[in-house]
Amino acid sequence: MAYNQNQPKREQNDSDNKKLVHCRFCKSKNVVKKGYRKTEKRGKIQRYLCRKCGKAFTLDEGFYRMRNNEKIIAMSIDMYFSNLSSRKMRNQLHRHMNTKISHVSVLDWARRFTLKVHKFVDKLNPSDLGKGYYADGTKIDRQGTKDTFWACVDWKTRMIVGTHYSLREGNKEAVTFLKKSVRKGLPNYIQVDSAKFYPRAFRRTFYSNKVGGLKVEHRTQNTLKTGRYNVRIETVFSKIKDRVDDFRGLKALWSAPILLAGVVLQHNYIEAHTTTNEIPCALAGLDLQTGQNRWLGLIRLASVC
Ligand SMILES: [Zn+2]
Repeated sequence: MAYNQNQPKREQNDSDNKKLVHCRFCKSKNVVKKGYRKTEKRGKIQRYLCRKCGKAFTLDEGFYRMRNNEKIIAMSIDMYFSNLSSRKMRNQLHRHMNTKISHVSVLDWARRFTLKVHKFVDKLNPSDLGKGYYADGTKIDRQGTKDTFWACVDWKTRMIVGTHYSLREGNKEAVTFLKKSVRKGLPNYIQVDSAKFYPRAFRRTFYSNKVGGLKVEHRTQNTLKTGRYNVRIETVFSKIKDRVDDFRGLKALWSAPILLAGVVLQHNYIEAHTTTNEIPCALAGLDLQTGQNRWLGLIRLASVC
């Protein structure tokens, strides 16, 4: 009986997927399942027939024409962003999946699929964000440079709601960052540290008519007084710092923002937060039904939607 109890859930998922399937050629949703295509590494892949234009097709589930097994790819990306060293990753993949994967391949997959998934989740609108945001910047040492990675965290869900990558700090960059942070919802306040460019940036962003005359309270945490640093989101930021320290690919300017976007995806959509015990996106009202293998689920969603 226990087995049967699982059945309705599977059917549910299946019909959800069906709604998403549309013809690769004419975009019609009038399609039927029609046999399988055999592939060497990815097994049998469902083939569809379009009733409108009559063409047969398989879905691009994100791994179209990739030689390696999609589970190995998703697993590698997950391990990479959860900060496993490349040597440990190689050993794990070799022991458990009997496969040899180079660091270059993993880095390539991490960037490629981060871009794809990022583009998809950027269009989603979380319904349950809180009213208090905490923002901070992390210095990125890219072989001697002092870039800044700005991130804004919603306290209620721990979701990272806005990020910005810049080569310097200052009023203009702060304005860009603040605007990006309120795209999905306007909080009552945003707490930042006492950096001198924030007051002007807040005035320019929230107290003029530029964002419809909306008001967001600017709260400051005086680090000199408390000796602490935006305590509430410290865990989020120390996590980012940990990951950044180990990124070899961060040497290149084009690569750094993509890998940081991957770190944000890992935080928002893959891992349960240690305090809330929930994945931030779930708390924020985004139930994406990605299944246990969340990277794999996200890549598939991003590819068929
Ligand atoms: Zn068609």
